[in-house]
Order: sequence, then C-alpha cells, then structure tokens
Amino acid sequence: MLPDDAKPAPEPEPALETVCHRTMTTAPENYYHAEYQGRIIYFCTEFCLDAFRADPERFYIAHSRKRPK
Ligand SMILES: [Zn+2]
Repeated sequence: MLPDDAKPAPEPEPALETVCHRTMTTAPENYYHAEYQGRIIYFCTEFCLDAFRADPERFYIAHSRKRPK
C-alpha cells in the first residue's frame, strides 16, 4: 500500500545535447558553452568551442543539420 502522502515521481529532466548532438551525461555546466542568438549552446569539447568562436554562424549551421539515420 502507498502512503497517502506519497508524492508523484519528479519529471525527468529532458536529455540535453551539445550542439554536435552528444547527449550530456553530466550537468550542463560541466560543458563548454557560449551564447548564440540569445541562447546558450553547449559544446562537447574545447575544440568545438574554438571552432564556434572562429565562425559562429558557419559552425552552428553545420552542426545543426540533422544527422542522417
Ligand atoms: Zn562537438
């Protein structure tokens, strides 16, 4: 029997992804990130962040493409 004050399970947080579609396995603040067009986007590596800074628009467009399945 469940106690009357049992609380429903908390909603699971949506899986966050880096801009290169890697699922984050730890807290977002552990990842490299930058602001782009008013949003915070995350990077899997410092290399990706550097590439983004060099040419944000091109990097973002290239990495935002849906991967072929
Ligand atoms: Zn990356």
